[in-house]
Amino acid sequence: MAQKLNNFDMVIFGATGDLAMRKLLPCLYQAHAAGLLHPQGRILGVSRSQLNTSDFLAKVEKDSKIHIKQHFTDELWQSFIQRIQYLTVDVNTPEHFQTLRQTVQSRSQTDNVIIYLSTAPKFFAPACKNLAEVGLNADNVRIVLEKPLGTDLPSSQQINADVAQYFKEEQIYRIDHYLGKESLQNVLPLRFGNVFFEPIWNKDFVKSVQITIAEQLGVEERGEFYDITGALRDMVQNHIIQMLCFVAMEQPKSLSADDVRDEKLKVVAALKPMTSADVDKNVVRAQYVAHESQKGYLQENNVPANSRTETYVAIRAEIDTPRWQGVPFYLRTGKRLAARSAEIVLNFKEQENGLFGNHANRLVISLQPDETVSAKMFVKQVGNGLNVQAAEMVLDMGKTSNERRAEAYELLLREVIDGRLSLFNRRDELEKAWEWVMPILENWANSPIAPHTYAASSWGPKAAQDLLAQDGNVWLEEQI
Ligand code: NAP
Repeated sequence: MAQKLNNFDMVIFGATGDLAMRKLLPCLYQAHAAGLLHPQGRILGVSRSQLNTSDFLAKVEKDSKIHIKQHFTDELWQSFIQRIQYLTVDVNTPEHFQTLRQTVQSRSQTDNVIIYLSTAPKFFAPACKNLAEVGLNADNVRIVLEKPLGTDLPSSQQINADVAQYFKEEQIYRIDHYLGKESLQNVLPLRFGNVFFEPIWNKDFVKSVQITIAEQLGVEERGEFYDITGALRDMVQNHIIQMLCFVAMEQPKSLSADDVRDEKLKVVAALKPMTSADVDKNVVRAQYVAHESQKGYLQENNVPANSRTETYVAIRAEIDTPRWQGVPFYLRTGKRLAARSAEIVLNFKEQENGLFGNHANRLVISLQPDETVSAKMFVKQVGNGLNVQAAEMVLDMGKTSNERRAEAYELLLREVIDGRLSLFNRRDELEKAWEWVMPILENWANSPIAPHTYAASSWGPKAAQDLLAQDGNVWLEEQI
């Protein structure tokens, strides 16, 4: 049965910006090309610049089209850009919002209006206030908030409180693009839709869990942004904690947005809080330093020479629930590491039955660069006798279906159009995550201890290896 497509108006604030050009418009094109957008669905690009629609389309032609890497035809492109209009709307100019309202209300056939705030968060409050003043916060309006949603707990609470003055929680879609990744979503059916995993997915069988997001790139031209952000805010508070929730949560009552988000919230709330002394013991921060032809962080453009911002962080966390009592969760992320990857690793306890020696199974769920699930097993060596050797059983997610696999942003944009909230963060989850990282931020702000260092293109500082060594563990790349 063909899926019902919702008619929509999508108003993109920040339409001239980098995110809109590189991601939002190309992803909407892909949805259009696949026939997944309602034929009358409209895209209203808005920003401060004084442009008309044809100026804007010329910019889209120049800055956005180049980011469409597949399924491009001139015919589809021409039909796609028919959907696009441009309006000048300065978030601080109430009169501009009257014009926006008139444009949105110029047709009656809209199932929903989506307001995508792809701007710096300081514009969220005036934008929401001005939208509400012209009635663009009615029940059929959904508002999408781009990250970063705050830089600490108080600023995150402030943003949420500002938006909540004008929009109900069920109208708010907080973006974390990791939730748009098929291979992260796949953790739920893998765990709760198969008989294999759930019985062993707990402290009795799992020795430790590792969650890694590794980037090969350095800060490139984003030194100024990165230096006030750092790895903890950029990656851990959001993406890594979301990955952790999928691995650690209990089975939700249903797949409804609130049932899923209730279970995720319980995981974040059960993360053991850290004192400052715990931070010294369980958290490693580091900066990359020059190696061979690669610059160190402090030599990057727009980075102060005395910066203490971390480009790497590793954390030993624990989750205080009956399922996970005592199991270390090692979380790490960094720039200029040896490889690009995002993965979840479950290291199982050694199997001690005496017949085949003491071997430990391992499950690796890889989100990037490949989307695979690999189980390390022990199998018979070829030849006489019954000696065993390690082997990997690999499920390549790319081969499970011939369907086109959409990029995370496209999938999330379609979820907003369809009004499904489960892949978006609820306010309480987000604020709990901030609550948990706050002692780390506070410790670092006051600590006399400088960040550790690691050579560019290595796997991070020695201190991160020591963090695991104290439990008798090693990171995935050092495992045999
Ligand atoms: P950007 O390139 O700096 O663009 C900012 C946009 O905001 C421009 O369209 C600008 O319009 C608009 N703007 C500025 N002041 C305005 C005002 N007073 N009224 C209306 N519009 C105004 O930023 P970006 O990289 O696209 O990022 C947008 C948001 O997404 C940021 O919060 C960023 O942190 C987040 N984000 C970005 C990326 C990314 O890859 N770029 C990834 C994740 C999250 P004018 O050009 O007309 O001035």
